[in-house]
Amino acid sequence: MAAQYKDWHLQPLGGEWCEGSSETTRAVTNPHSGEELTTIRLATSEDLDIAYRKAEEAQKAWAAQGPSARAAVLYRAVSIFDERKDEIIDWLIRESGSTRLKANVEWGSVRAITLEAASMPGRAHGYTMPSDIPGKDNLVYRRPLGVVGVISPWNFPLHLSQRSVAPALALGNGVVIKPASDTPVTGGLLIARIFEEAGLPPGVLNVVVGAGSEIGDDFVAHPVPAMISFTGSTPVGKNIGRIATGGAHIKKVALELGGNSPFVVLDDADVPQAAKAAVFGKFLHQGQICMAINRIIVDQSRYDEFVEAFVAQVRTLKVGDPADMDTAIGPIINESQLNGLLKKIAGAKAQGATVLLEGEADGQLLPPHVFGDVTPDMELSAEEIFGPIVGIQKARDEAHALELANGTEFGLSSAVFSGSLERGLDFARQVRAGMIHVNDMPVNDEAALPFGGEKNSGLGRFNGDWALEEFSTVQWVSVQRTPRQYPF
Ligand code: NAD
Repeated sequence: MAAQYKDWHLQPLGGEWCEGSSETTRAVTNPHSGEELTTIRLATSEDLDIAYRKAEEAQKAWAAQGPSARAAVLYRAVSIFDERKDEIIDWLIRESGSTRLKANVEWGSVRAITLEAASMPGRAHGYTMPSDIPGKDNLVYRRPLGVVGVISPWNFPLHLSQRSVAPALALGNGVVIKPASDTPVTGGLLIARIFEEAGLPPGVLNVVVGAGSEIGDDFVAHPVPAMISFTGSTPVGKNIGRIATGGAHIKKVALELGGNSPFVVLDDADVPQAAKAAVFGKFLHQGQICMAINRIIVDQSRYDEFVEAFVAQVRTLKVGDPADMDTAIGPIINESQLNGLLKKIAGAKAQGATVLLEGEADGQLLPPHVFGDVTPDMELSAEEIFGPIVGIQKARDEAHALELANGTEFGLSSAVFSGSLERGLDFARQVRAGMIHVNDMPVNDEAALPFGGEKNSGLGRFNGDWALEEFSTVQWVSVQRTPRQYPF
């Protein structure tokens, strides 16, 4: 068995593992135990420049490697994900407060997207197309973008970095990752170690660990990256979009932003099954998922029955050490997020929501909170919660349920339960969201299926053919075989 990776204080910057050159260091801690996992000297804008310049240089040789050579690196990375599964899961638990279950789910998603990306070098087709001009041949070449800057959040750090990194590398791009400050290891350094072991040439993939507020603008505005792939909150995403398209250098952007997923239970639904789905779709990873259920909307004729089944099951969820096999709810990522959630709980009470289930916070563990009689104007409905708190709303009928479901600035994921698949499908087609699941909950991500949002949930799609489009571009080359006749 390979020795465990080490030297987490180092960053792959410009083809070598080195320390950042900032005066500031950051301790990375376990959100449950408070244990210090590593301390990292942060990267500065000068380090960032070195990383981007090196990625630009190394990308050319990487793109020139044949598709099977690039695919081989990705396939080796998949094998390393298998061999180092326990080590990776352990890091996800310790650094991001993932329960063992969530860490396994995340590991599975990362493995799947890496495997999907490994097939991309062989799928990067160009075209020949007929021309209206006599004697002209049209060729459409698919080519890498160049260098892609990836910014990821702390909640699914490994997956949300890798879903950009793996396809971008597979298609011949260089990459620089800026992981979230709470998760520099699982959001970047671990990925770099794995690709290094898989045989990726030095410098093609770089990681800069630095605060978004300090190096974020430079990361986006730097002249080298042709694309910024950002996953995170809507306000930060909007700012990135502005800088990436409004500054000196226009860049392609992928923005995967916040959500406010509705979970709708129609009057003919299998309520016990819907309640089970809602418990998982709300509380996986303490509700800190962009697709997590944010609003439960139940037809008034089934409201009492749903509330009873839902609350009964939520009561059984074990809150505690995320490393324990049977823990369902682990710690909130940091104190500032926890304080924000405590404010939301106080706000829900002040706004008149009915408390159906509550509990006291213990350290960074926040037990599940359920509120009834929630209305669309309350903060619990209007804003993304991102924690183990949920409000249940009553809908008068199907039309009202649809109006409530669509009554949000967001449009990422969503779900509807109905006893009739036709009715469920008709309802689904009318929801303005990038993803909707009939008789399931909204937390779904499959490596070959389009992942992304509408409205303020963002721009662009991940996975499968959609990622292939996102992380490459096309060039039209025409060849005039016979002299063309011009009008003058
Ligand atoms: P965040 O926006 O605060 O941070 C995300 C990343 O952006 C971090 O790496 C952070 O350091 C960086 N950043 C912060 N300020 C920056 C700046 N000025 N310039 C450049 N980078 C900057 O989000 P978060 O709190 O880490 O994550 C939670 C949010 O992410 C939620 O809103 C959630 O819905 C969203 N999210 C969306 C998806 C999706 O696929 N749509 C997935 C997961 C999380």
